[in-house]
Amino acid sequence: MNPFQNALKQLDRVAKVGTIDPNILLRMRHAEREVHVSIPITMDSGELRIFEGYRVQHSSVRGPYKGGIRFHPDTNIDEVRALALWMTIKCAVAGIAMGGGKGGVTVNPKELSKAEIERLSRGWVRGLYPVLGPNVDVPAPDVNTNPEIIWWMADEYAKLTGDTSGATFTGKPVGKGGSEGRGVATGMGGFYTFDALREHLNIPAAATVAVQGMGNVGGNAAKIFAEHGHRIVAMSDSRGGMYDQDGLDVTAVLAYKEKGGSLKDFPDAGEISNEKLLELPVDCLIPAALENQITKENANRIRARVIVELANGPTTTDADDILFSRGIMVVPDILANSGGVIVSTFEWEQNQKGEHWSERDVLEKLKKVLETQAQLVVKRASELKTDMRRAAFVVALERISSSLKPRT
Ligand code: NAD
Repeated sequence: MNPFQNALKQLDRVAKVGTIDPNILLRMRHAEREVHVSIPITMDSGELRIFEGYRVQHSSVRGPYKGGIRFHPDTNIDEVRALALWMTIKCAVAGIAMGGGKGGVTVNPKELSKAEIERLSRGWVRGLYPVLGPNVDVPAPDVNTNPEIIWWMADEYAKLTGDTSGATFTGKPVGKGGSEGRGVATGMGGFYTFDALREHLNIPAAATVAVQGMGNVGGNAAKIFAEHGHRIVAMSDSRGGMYDQDGLDVTAVLAYKEKGGSLKDFPDAGEISNEKLLELPVDCLIPAALENQITKENANRIRARVIVELANGPTTTDADDILFSRGIMVVPDILANSGGVIVSTFEWEQNQKGEHWSERDVLEKLKKVLETQAQLVVKRASELKTDMRRAAFVVALERISSSLKPRT
């Protein structure tokens, strides 16, 4: 399944809602710029290898391109295109003055040493720095990239350009220009969105929750949902998952994973596959790993009452139709996982102003943004008699359209 085809189908479905200028939809189908670089890296063995790197700059209509960088063996230009388009929409749904972009490298980082990953990260910047900049394109972390990697990138950018503001990369370590709250922002934002909509979604105050993916996003989400009184009954990583109807001790599980343990081997819990985890009868299912997890093949077997998409693109459009007809609500990625980019934008603002905001201030601001935008998307969905994904696209495209008007 090609994620970019899925993203284009989402635009087609929005066209059918009928309120959006077709020219805006046409523009959204094409990225403004796509850059493809070869990154030569000398491996620890002395062998030279060339890695493929990408940056897709989808839209700068509302501000500088903004979006993460993914290191993954399956990453390719179509995946990055889809993720860039979703970033444009996501930033507009959040109401922040950023456009959409995304980057990546086709690589399995698990096969590289730390020194090789550093050379690759710096190599990505050497290939792409002419098209980056605080007012041009501001990358951030995504799958398999973290604050340390972002720091190497920011450092390489500063060496190449002399720009030491730090505002070209967000998701840096706190103490090196990073924002308080950025590490937990996507998981926390997912919780704020869920909590703002919980009564509307008819979900109890103590809900059962299953989380697929235990990285930055899934790990933090599991912890935050548990801290707010919800029962995490299943968790997984790429090697498989674990299940306990009575609820898992999330802190103990994360500590076990931190030490290199595989979730499926966690003592005192049953083993569950990633596929079966998706089909558990829970109040809330949180996909927080990769795209294309809920498809027409398994949508009829989903028994969650609500899906809160913290991964990008976990549900295909075919599956959307099936879930909608079965009354399963989907809180879409372009709303639910926007906490990361919102706090990234706060980081960018702090770097430019030379300020450092407290975690409390950052999270309060984040909560306010998400509560407001979540209620707006629900209102639009009810007016248009459609699902939240289409409503969120409509909200975003209307904003993009009004930013474009003065220029045409
Ligand atoms: P990460 O690299 O920190 O973690 C990814 C996790 O997914 C790991 O636990 C990995 O084991 C697991 N995983 C990989 N393949 C899997 C599979 N087939 N089944 C189950 N688990 C699998 O990445 P992340 O930053 O947590 O990103 C996760 C998702 O959230 C991605 O879709 C990403 O685009 C999206 N996202 C991330 C951010 C952010 O701030 N990091 C913001 C918005 C959206």
